[in-house]
Amino acid sequence: MRYKRLAELYESLSATTKRLEKTEILSKFLREVDNEDKEILYLLQGDIYPEYSEKKIGISSQLAIQAISKATGTEKEKVVKEWKSIGDLGKVAEKLTKEKKQSTLQSHVLTTEKVLENLRKLPELIGKGTVNKKLALITELLTSASPVEALYLIRTCIGDLRIGVQESTIRDAMARAFFEEDKEAIDKIQRAIDRTNDLSLVFEMTKTKKLDKLKEVHLEVGKPIKVMLAQKAKNIKEGFEMVGKPCGIEYKYDGFRLLIHKKGKEVILFTRRLENVTKQFPEVVEYLNKYVKGNSFILDSEAVGYDKKTKEYQSFQHISQRIRRKYDIEKMQEELPIEINVFDVLYFNGKSQIDEPFEKRAKLVREIVKSQPYKIISSKMIITDDETKAEKFYKNALNDQQEGIMMKSLNAIYQPGRRVGQMIKVKPEERDLDLVITGAEYGTGKRSGWMSSFILSCKGNKPGEFLEIGKMGTGIKEKEEEGMSFKELTEKLKPLITSEKGKTVKIKPKVVISVTYQEIQRSPNYNSGWALRFPRFVSLRPDKPLSEIASLKDIEKDFSDQKRNWRYG
Ligand code: AMP
Repeated sequence: MRYKRLAELYESLSATTKRLEKTEILSKFLREVDNEDKEILYLLQGDIYPEYSEKKIGISSQLAIQAISKATGTEKEKVVKEWKSIGDLGKVAEKLTKEKKQSTLQSHVLTTEKVLENLRKLPELIGKGTVNKKLALITELLTSASPVEALYLIRTCIGDLRIGVQESTIRDAMARAFFEEDKEAIDKIQRAIDRTNDLSLVFEMTKTKKLDKLKEVHLEVGKPIKVMLAQKAKNIKEGFEMVGKPCGIEYKYDGFRLLIHKKGKEVILFTRRLENVTKQFPEVVEYLNKYVKGNSFILDSEAVGYDKKTKEYQSFQHISQRIRRKYDIEKMQEELPIEINVFDVLYFNGKSQIDEPFEKRAKLVREIVKSQPYKIISSKMIITDDETKAEKFYKNALNDQQEGIMMKSLNAIYQPGRRVGQMIKVKPEERDLDLVITGAEYGTGKRSGWMSSFILSCKGNKPGEFLEIGKMGTGIKEKEEEGMSFKELTEKLKPLITSEKGKTVKIKPKVVISVTYQEIQRSPNYNSGWALRFPRFVSLRPDKPLSEIASLKDIEKDFSDQKRNWRYG
């Protein structure tokens, strides 16, 4: 397909904010896409491979500037100047290409295959001396591009397509294009996406109207699956109402989700964001080979950190650095040990288990995992219909430094990617605070270019003093429909940056926000001496002056109140 056709589609998609219109535009387009062009589905999401693939384009703004400069024969300084005034490198590329095109003739016709071919070479290039090769690959595309093609090429390269199309819009467009929006079809397509995470594959099946084949899409060891997510209940009584009696009750461990795939001796570990983290956790590979029965399986688990001396469980923050660390792995393993708590099995010895009832899967977990405390165990679980027993179990979980409990329906199937009412979390009620943002860290991957975690501060004892009290990254994504996003917040904070070091910035205290949190702990990590556990974004508070945010005294008071009653507050 000509890339021009795709660029025009991007244009019409970004011209409307209405989801229904986007779906309509997209469904018309999808009807035109031939099977051999099915990989365009990746480009529609700004990607070159399925979502789970580690091969991302990852081009920095600097490199994009160089490519624009080279392809359009414009001085680099001018490109940067334009960037500063327009604020969007894609638009800069469009403008400069237009200016150039008035004096030269377009040399080639750009196709989507050529775009994919060149972009797919980018992640293969690593190490020294590859910058020029990358530059050549992008420049080659830009040289053949029309202005609007240049716009979307650059946006694709820097990972900021801005067409406002989510996976669910593509799903609905597929259903509309090939099944007249049949509800059942939407459901089946979603299931296939959840199980494969491969839009191109699902598109092919939908297009050929092999709905029954969609049903057959099976899990594959080595291919990451979106995890099943939990809903929330206020308390145990409500939890029982939601999941039924009796139910399975487990500790809600405070670590990070780890999906474990094994085939023969090969083990692959994925996070809930489908990142492959196998290299970071060599000990887990060893535990699996030693302590779990089975030739091939996919397990769902939570990896929890513990103190190597006292053996007490620690909060997620302690081990979070292990997830991204690429060096000193052995030292990290020694310093920040983890225990794997297996709570589900999705595949076992050649057979998918996700359509089996939870009770059966939980039993299988206990049959195959030979628990080795501080290495790998099956999660602590009771099956009960008795509220007093459940309360006692909950109390134990909190005493063991865990977040709360999970209540699970015994007959529920595993639904990848869904937030379901058959798996319920119960944790202590959250409290809220108004605080100010005084620092931030830029994100990576999809969030590169945007700040993705924020340092929060309260008022100190001296006038004008602000003391750090925690780091927050959650809650923002959930507010998208209300117009909040990482991008929005970054734009608000950018003019307030006072200093910058690598990905970390310090920010003038101005933006006040409301957050909820679960607990306050003493902490040497922040200069207030306190740290919030699980701070979550609730809203911007432009209405609140700095003088009204929480003070150190308020925090101390919250801490002593919490000691009295937070567990069952
Ligand atoms: P939340 O992140 O608050 O929505 O809670 C759900 C998360 O709790 C899951 O994604 C898991 O990472 C974690 N979790 C901890 N223990 C369990 C468990 N026993 N069963 C299921 N999820 C658990």
